[in-house]
Amino acid sequence: MSEPLTSAPLIQLKGVTRCYQSGDQAVTVLHPLDLTIEAGEMIAIVGASGSGKSTLMNVLGCLDHPSGGQYLFRGQDTATLDALALARLRCHHFGFIFQRYHLLPHLDAAANVEIPAVYAGTYRSDRQARASQLLGRLGLADRSHHTPSQLSGGQQQRVSIARALANGGEVILADEPTGALDSQSGKEVMAILKELHAQGHTIILVTHDMNVASHAQRIITLKDGRVEQDSGQSVALPRLAQVPVRAQGVTGHDWDRYREAARMALHAMLAHRMRTFLTMLGIIIGIAAVVSVVALGQGARNKVIAQINAMGTNTIEIFPGKGWGDENMAKIQTLNKGDLDALLGQPYLVGASPEIASGSQLRYRNKTSNGSVTGVSSDYFQVKGMTLVSGRLLASHDIQQQAAVAVVDQKRIASLLGQDDPIGKVVLVGTLPVRIVGVVAQETGFGPAGQSVNVWLPYSAVMSRLISQHHFSQITIRVKDGVPSALAEQAVTALLTKRHGVKDFFTFSSDSIIKSVEKTTATMTLMVSAIAVISLIVGGVGVMNIMLVSVVERTREIGIRMAVGARQSDILQQFLIEAVMVSLLGGLLGVALSLGIGLLFSLLIDSFKMQFSLFSILMAFGCSSLIGILFGYLPARNAARLDPVVALARE
Ligand code: ADP
Ligand code: MG
Repeated sequence: MSEPLTSAPLIQLKGVTRCYQSGDQAVTVLHPLDLTIEAGEMIAIVGASGSGKSTLMNVLGCLDHPSGGQYLFRGQDTATLDALALARLRCHHFGFIFQRYHLLPHLDAAANVEIPAVYAGTYRSDRQARASQLLGRLGLADRSHHTPSQLSGGQQQRVSIARALANGGEVILADEPTGALDSQSGKEVMAILKELHAQGHTIILVTHDMNVASHAQRIITLKDGRVEQDSGQSVALPRLAQVPVRAQGVTGHDWDRYREAARMALHAMLAHRMRTFLTMLGIIIGIAAVVSVVALGQGARNKVIAQINAMGTNTIEIFPGKGWGDENMAKIQTLNKGDLDALLGQPYLVGASPEIASGSQLRYRNKTSNGSVTGVSSDYFQVKGMTLVSGRLLASHDIQQQAAVAVVDQKRIASLLGQDDPIGKVVLVGTLPVRIVGVVAQETGFGPAGQSVNVWLPYSAVMSRLISQHHFSQITIRVKDGVPSALAEQAVTALLTKRHGVKDFFTFSSDSIIKSVEKTTATMTLMVSAIAVISLIVGGVGVMNIMLVSVVERTREIGIRMAVGARQSDILQQFLIEAVMVSLLGGLLGVALSLGIGLLFSLLIDSFKMQFSLFSILMAFGCSSLIGILFGYLPARNAARLDPVVALARE
């Protein structure tokens, strides 16, 4: 706003009209109306019901726009002001008093009085001091922490007068201020308004009661939207002492606005606890689902990796060919005893064992069974991390002598031997009689599975006595503790490539298994999370839905806030903050719920635990605030765009 012209009257209406469109018919409520009001006047606007008094009042208070003509406030044409400038004007220059008080029901008297000062950006301490000073002045010092429902009509109207004065109340617009009051309270209110006039406030009062109007120096009578009579201006006008209101600078101001908006949002949430909870429910379920699914995925992954680690993180397997599924795998015969000896000479390895597999029938007395027969060396059991249960492992002399001895797997051997002790028993492997010398247990479920009985023979025996083959199908090596397995893998690759002249083999370590497990679980988690995110979006739509209803329900509150000086941005912010707070609280409860699920899970299932990560929890909060902003925006914008006069009229 530009500087006011000093000579201009406070308020000047030039040919102001106001028409309403009802159906396809325009109703003119104010006919071209000229009116000049000087600062310091006390004016009563009287007239029959429906004569347009409230309409005129709303135009004067910049809650409503004239349909035609000019409204100059201190010489400034209000038609040139945008919504923000009009809000500033209402905030800093006008104070409204309504027939029905229009206090916010969930705030106490002091907080109601503070609202205009919040929107003016007054320091918190200043505005609290001013609110209690005003309430004290109006005889309500002991009522400042009562909510409107705990106050009588007269007390509520005095609170609303205090609110009108919060930012100075240079021009007080009172629409039927005594209309809802008993005569005693009405007299008190009028006495207050007269006193304010004496102090220099400009008072514009609407009434249909001539007794009330007689308190004013100037009486304007409206009839059917026209000025029927104007008693003329009074002569001596008192001057208004400036109210010392300290507005704060930009930095502190914004924080204070956010904090106030958050406080108001909290009040609104507390006022409708059940609805707030139901609003949150979608978010709670969505967040709980996301966090739990991620934790489950993480837990499952950790469990699998622990199993792999139990198998030994420091084994590397060497296969012929270029990789899994290489068709030439069977044709490549370069992995042989020479390679094995070379590997055994490497200082960074603790052992190496070839594997040469052959499926054979096993026979014991009259029983037969499918056997998974593998030729190995004496290092095999150590390399694979198997433990001896009874008897002995294969020894190097067994290898040298191509002895027909075998170590069997504890798991399935009973299917062939029954309850007999396997040690010393002779079984037929194909046509070769083999004596069982040891029983081992495998640590993990990995390795050959299925119904066949695992039998390990010296590789030399398999190669010469069972099948005639001079190359291995695999060599497994175990890396010394402390040697990085990736380095060992490189060295082994270099060694064998040099020996073969070409890299016709590939290596496979538990590192690479872990990598592929991680990849799979990551994909799974992502997929299930995507489903959970959909539930979050559904939750967000729920928030939006209920916020939209809440905006409609709180239209009058929004109108009141706008009348006492809230800008569109204040309203937008308040509803956005409310949406974000609802979503964040929903997120918090969702995380708590999923922690609860995790606890329950750990009590019921002990094979693995849900693993909660700080990251997923933080992500959950990030998601829920984002949802609040995204889905709160539309309702908040709807609220901010409400026309103050329409909003106020809504009951
Ligand atoms: P008063 O306050 O003097 O009783 P109002 O200014 O409230 O009268 O209303 C004046 C006239 O304007 C009435 O006839 C009323 O029906 C009409 N009016 C007020 N608001 C609207 C509206 N939003 N739409 C259509 N007509 C309206
Ligand atoms: Mg009215």
